[in-house]
Amino acid sequence: MSIEITNVSKSFGAFRALDHVSITFPDGELTALLGPSGSGKTTLLRLVAGLEAPDPDPGCRILFDGQEVANTPVGRRQVGFVFQHYALFRHLTVFENVAFGLRVKKRAERPSRHEIADRVHELLRLVQLDTMAQRLPSQLSGGQRQRVALARALAIQPQVLLLDEPFGALDAKVRAELRRWLRDLHNRLHITSIFVTHDQEEALEVADRVVVMNQGRIEQVGTPDTVFHRPASEFVMQFLGDVNVFHGRIEAGLANFTATPDNGGETEARLLVRPHELTIRRNPAGEPALAAKVHRVLTAGPVVKVDLIDRFQRIVQVHLSHEVYDQDPVAPAENVFVVPRQTQVYAGKDPWEGNFVI
Ligand code: ADP
Ligand code: MG
Repeated sequence: MSIEITNVSKSFGAFRALDHVSITFPDGELTALLGPSGSGKTTLLRLVAGLEAPDPDPGCRILFDGQEVANTPVGRRQVGFVFQHYALFRHLTVFENVAFGLRVKKRAERPSRHEIADRVHELLRLVQLDTMAQRLPSQLSGGQRQRVALARALAIQPQVLLLDEPFGALDAKVRAELRRWLRDLHNRLHITSIFVTHDQEEALEVADRVVVMNQGRIEQVGTPDTVFHRPASEFVMQFLGDVNVFHGRIEAGLANFTATPDNGGETEARLLVRPHELTIRRNPAGEPALAAKVHRVLTAGPVVKVDLIDRFQRIVQVHLSHEVYDQDPVAPAENVFVVPRQTQVYAGKDPWEGNFVI
C-alpha cells in the first residue's frame, strides 16, 4: 500500500506542528521519519493512522493506494501500531496479547479459535518468542516485550505498519540488535512501514529512505546514503552526525574562511566537515589546509580521535583510522595542518557550489 500525503498542516491552537507537508511513502518500503524532539514526527504518524485530523485545507490529501481516507476511521485503515512504551496488557499472557486484535473482531470477520491459535504461534515464531507464549509481560525483557508488541501489531494483517520510537526505551546494545532484526523482518514481509526516530544512526541503518524533519517541515527526503553524504541543508548535515563548523563569508564569489568569525561582510557562509573527512598533514601540498595545534589524542576506540585548536581558538575534531594514525602519530602541542577530503559549504541555508579558502 502506498501512502501519498499532500499539503497537510496540523495546528494545536496557534502552534503549527506540521506546515504544508507533502510526502509519498512507497509501497513495501521502510521509511524513517527522523528529526529532533518536537519536529512533528508523531503528529504526522497520527495523521496517517487517522488518530488526528489535518487542518481543513482544500488542497490537503491523504491517499492510501490513490484513495482518499479522510473519512475512513482508524479501525478501517488497516494500520498496525507499535509505540515506545510497551502498551502490552499486563494481565494477559504473550499469547493472549498477540491474539487480542483477532478476538475483538466482529463475529463475521473473526477467525475460529483454531485459526487464531495457528496465526498467533506463527507470529510468535516470526518474532522468535514461540517458547514464551504463556509468560506474562512482566516476565520478559524490554526487547522481548517490543517484539511481542510487533507481533500483536502484525496479527491483524495490516497494510501499513507505524512504529513510533519503538526502541526508544531500550538500552543501546538491545536497540542495535533489534534494529537489525527489524530490518531482516521487513525484508521478509515488505509491509509499507513508517518508523519514527530521533536517532540518526537508527534511521540510517534501518530505512530504505529517510525523511528529515525540522519544525513541522521536511528538510530532505533521500536514501540513507544521500542524506548522509549529500545533505540538502546545514540542518541535515548537523543532525546526521558529528560535524566541524567554520564561519566565514562570501567575498567576490569566493567563500572565505580565513577571516575572523565575526567581521560581518557580505553573505554569511559556513563550512561543514565531518571529523572523519579531515586528515592531518605535517606539510600541506597546495591543498586547502588549516594550521592548528594538536590539543588531545584519544586512541582507545575504533578510530583515533584528535582534537586540535586553530589560530582563532576554534576546536577542530579529526577522526583517523588507526592505520593512518600509526604511520605518523601526532602528539599534543605539535603544530600541524588539517586538510579536508570532503566538505560542504553553505551560503545561508543552501549548499554553495563555488570555490573556498580556509
Ligand atoms: P515529535 O514526535 O517529532 O517529537 P510531535 O509530533 O509529538 O513531535 O509534536 C510536535 C509539536 O506539536 C510539539 O511542539 C508538541 O508539543 C506539539 N503537540 C503535539 N501534540 C499536541 C497536542 N495534542 N496539543 C498541543 N500541542 C501538541
Ligand atoms: Mg514523537
